[in-house]
Amino acid sequence: MTQAVRSDVKLDRVREWIAEAKRVVVLTGAGISTDSGIPDFRGPQGVWTLNPKAEQMSDIRYYVADPEVRRLSWQSRLAHPAWTARPNLGHQAIASLEKRGKLYALITQNIDGLHQRAGIAPELVIEVHGNLHQAVCLSCGWRGPMQGVLDRVRAGEEDPACGECDGILKSDTISFGQALIPQVIERALRVAAECDLLLAVGSTLQVYPVAGAVPLAKDAGARVVIMNAQPTQFDDIADAVLRMRIGEALPFLCAA
Ligand SMILES: [Zn+2]
Repeated sequence: MTQAVRSDVKLDRVREWIAEAKRVVVLTGAGISTDSGIPDFRGPQGVWTLNPKAEQMSDIRYYVADPEVRRLSWQSRLAHPAWTARPNLGHQAIASLEKRGKLYALITQNIDGLHQRAGIAPELVIEVHGNLHQAVCLSCGWRGPMQGVLDRVRAGEEDPACGECDGILKSDTISFGQALIPQVIERALRVAAECDLLLAVGSTLQVYPVAGAVPLAKDAGARVVIMNAQPTQFDDIADAVLRMRIGEALPFLCAA
């Protein structure tokens, strides 16, 4: 086996694999949304790196205990780039897989809702970390559109309470210190085990249990393709590792 397969040759081969595949599962992380202006939380220019207070705002224990953290969190949500972000070529490329009837499911670690905005059927999207576009009450479980709650913040409420029970409201996303939703994780791992090609895009594949989808798919006989700017722990078991710009390579790979 030669180590130095030319990257364009590799791209052609992966494109053929996708053409042959019947059940593609795509797993996406922050790297697919950076071209849409959504910052990567963990990268060198990441939000947490530049503003340590932001990390407290992402921790459910600080959030519940400290009204000041909640006040800052609501201001931060008001200013979140997701409200104006548009899907980029990477999101559109994955949506084209659905049009070709190949997309079995999309697992995403992102909370920005950009995959749905690119046109993927919501029932195919498995959001393991929740969705910023929805608000939730931590006490009674009420859920509703985030924009309605943000309107109250704009109108002057610094820490809007649940209209049903006066409980603490938050975005319907998984914060640090908060449990993942077992049914969502089970579904993500199940589709990974059922696919014939798993394409991991823009994820460092460090966060479990979702990262476990990659070896699970491999063990079940699927081809595994990893496209990420940095090396991942699963590069060794991948059938192809593509270190290319997502917005350039993904449209080529997914096109009919
Ligand atoms: Zn409530």
